[in-house]
Amino acid sequence: MALLQRLKHSWAALERALLQALGLQTRLAPALAIQAPAVFPQSEPEAFEDDQSDSPGFLDSIFWMAVPKKRRTIEINRCRRRDVRKLEKIKNNIEVCQECGRLKLKHVLCAFCYQKVTHETGLVRAQIQAQEGGPHNTPPVKTVVLYEGEQATEADEGKRIIERNRKRPSWFTVDS
Ligand code: ZN
Repeated sequence: MALLQRLKHSWAALERALLQALGLQTRLAPALAIQAPAVFPQSEPEAFEDDQSDSPGFLDSIFWMAVPKKRRTIEINRCRRRDVRKLEKIKNNIEVCQECGRLKLKHVLCAFCYQKVTHETGLVRAQIQAQEGGPHNTPPVKTVVLYEGEQATEADEGKRIIERNRKRPSWFTVDS
């Protein structure tokens, strides 16, 4: 009982000091305080026993992922990021295109020349489309593309002839 009396006495002294310090007139009372998470996990209701697929639990909404246990120093991180294996390699397989003079990788088609040929082929296809009116009217014969100033030879007899109203580009060679 002596301990309880002493506790009450000290609480009253503390209360008086607090009231004086804060300038409050109301009496303070001791309260129970616990440290807990803001949201408590809710237990699953019993009604969803046979249909568990569309009743996500509290922990299902959290994206779990592994996190490092120790911080890695900036020196270690930089050593990893600037490792020799991660540096950009010097390319020695670059050459000049014989056709257009642009730089290209060896043993690889020049992208610029390829684009030129693709564009011209697309124009030829568009002209064929305009002439024949659709892919279903295509005759089952070989196609010859004739440019301005070119004449069909005997070998081209019976073939489908597409005449282009421009001069043949130097890079658009005859397909034999
Ligand atoms: Zn080229």
